[in-house]
Amino acid sequence: MSHLGCRTFAPETYAGNVPFLMSRGMNVTFYGVRGSTPCDDPALARYGGNTSCVVIEIPEADPIILDLGTGLRTYGDSLVASGNAAGWRGSVLLTHLHWDHVQGFPFFKPLHQLGSEVDIYGPDHGEAPLSEMVGRFMGPPYFPITPAELGASVRFHDVSPGSFRVGDAVVTALAVRHTGPTLAFRVDCDDVSVVYMPDHGPGCSSLDDDDFVPQDVIDLCTGADLLIHDAQHTLDEYPEKRHWGHSSVNYAVKVALSGRVRSLALFHHDPMHDDAEIDSIEQYAAGIARSDGSGLKVFAAREGLEVKIEPTLLDLTPQVERADR
Ligand SMILES: [Zn+2]
Ligand SMILES: [Zn+2]
Repeated sequence: MSHLGCRTFAPETYAGNVPFLMSRGMNVTFYGVRGSTPCDDPALARYGGNTSCVVIEIPEADPIILDLGTGLRTYGDSLVASGNAAGWRGSVLLTHLHWDHVQGFPFFKPLHQLGSEVDIYGPDHGEAPLSEMVGRFMGPPYFPITPAELGASVRFHDVSPGSFRVGDAVVTALAVRHTGPTLAFRVDCDDVSVVYMPDHGPGCSSLDDDDFVPQDVIDLCTGADLLIHDAQHTLDEYPEKRHWGHSSVNYAVKVALSGRVRSLALFHHDPMHDDAEIDSIEQYAAGIARSDGSGLKVFAAREGLEVKIEPTLLDLTPQVERADR
């Protein structure tokens, strides 16, 4: 488990006459970190070959799943093993419908149980509701059953850019440049924030320079505790692949620095990058961050990594300084 440390509230957030208040913090667990396609090779084992799936857990709240890639199956299996699959409830923030973000959905065991419930928030495609769009790939002849035939109650929500509530969290959706309708999400709860931008391709816009970071992307990221960002290509690979809809590692760091985030998780690793290459990408990205002097913490996401954003203590003294995370 990785800890991002703790900080104090601003005193004006204090209410009531108890001696202190605790925020809840978040646990962020990576179940799938690979981009494009699931892959399996001993040389990829340390970072893992499952595609995009991250789970946010907030105490006393239902879990929030970020994308439904093949890593979702592992999360479902863990719920079965812990006896928490029956009657499972949660939400999904679905960035887009590319295979690497949806293929785990039919294999999430809690959804085959009566009494489970899930709300799925995904991009509004205009041409058809999200429920119909998902039904186009989950159903015969591609899969034996449709979402409506799952044991769980599945509710689909078409999302346009803007903010909405998911339980106690506030979710902000932003349309980002990629090959098709694609959202990025920011999740805020208490004083903790995570931004998830797994597929982000500056080269998809013919108008923008490749290193241009749009203001709305900076705004979404500003001050986040953790940014999970597309880092599929090295700078050497990027020119040939700039229209594929993904970022260079350098661009991911630039977004993080522009948004003054505390931590950056390099994500959506290329299937052609083995463990050794991702290690060197991580070191390279951390070096860029160090040379900036910002204190940004950079790491490459790997399957099974749990990042704990600590609960925070409200200090009654008039202190607004924040400790390093
Ligand atoms: Zn993807
Ligand atoms: Zn994609």
